[in-house]
Amino acid sequence: MSPLPRPISPAQLLEELGIDSPADIDIEAIAQYCGATIVYAPLTGCEARIIGYHDRAIITIHSAASFSRRRFSGGHELGHWMHDRGKALACSDIQLTSEWFTDNPEKRANRYAADLLMPVFMFKPIADNRPIIFSTVDELTTTFQTSITATAIRLVEHGAFPSMVICSDARRRKWFTRSEILPEALRPHEVLGRDTVAFELHRNQMAIPPGPTEVNAAQWISHPKASLYTVKEDSIRVSSGLVLTLLWWQDEQQLLDLMNEQEEEDSEEEPSPYDFD
Ligand SMILES: [Zn+2]
Repeated sequence: MSPLPRPISPAQLLEELGIDSPADIDIEAIAQYCGATIVYAPLTGCEARIIGYHDRAIITIHSAASFSRRRFSGGHELGHWMHDRGKALACSDIQLTSEWFTDNPEKRANRYAADLLMPVFMFKPIADNRPIIFSTVDELTTTFQTSITATAIRLVEHGAFPSMVICSDARRRKWFTRSEILPEALRPHEVLGRDTVAFELHRNQMAIPPGPTEVNAAQWISHPKASLYTVKEDSIRVSSGLVLTLLWWQDEQQLLDLMNEQEEEDSEEEPSPYDFD
């Protein structure tokens, strides 16, 4: 019996295989290299599954899914093969699209897929200085052949501008993530503002997403002075009745004012050593 293959990180895999461009990220070949064979078949009740035995695994992917979804499912199951050996797993649409921020094996598998299919060293130069809107996401999904949600998260986390991506159902926010440069003081509301595009897309199923739209920041952000500023909102419907929103602080005045306030507070808190009287 051969030993179990070692878990390999996406970065290491790409290096071992000499892959340095998005077009060369062949998920079937990469999985095979790791001992997992990808096959396609009609599945009901799940999008993809993996069954492993010793050092070999079979990954079955729903054959009716789109090309980019099938690729992402392949990366996701490969993530399970690296981290969740010894279990037979079946992964649903909701696990593949929404489990990004709860610490569980699904999040790990989604992150593995994103790191494999959109490695930061390839993604960052291509996403650099691109506007944080869905037309940018569309172009990147074409380059990397990945899903919209995964690519939008990548753009916010590794793009050049202060932004957030927020996923909501008809009632409330499901999850969000932010770019590192966006101050922690800015948090999105739990419940959608009634003047947001996202609210309208949930309320009126016939409404067509209008594209990037200037909205009052207080509609999205709970901060005492948020109403003084605007953000650019781009919202679209994704699967399972969810709306995905990109928020972009294209006008960075709110962030500059927050930084200045913080500096003033800091200087008030720390008296100068020469202030004796
Ligand atoms: Zn899974």
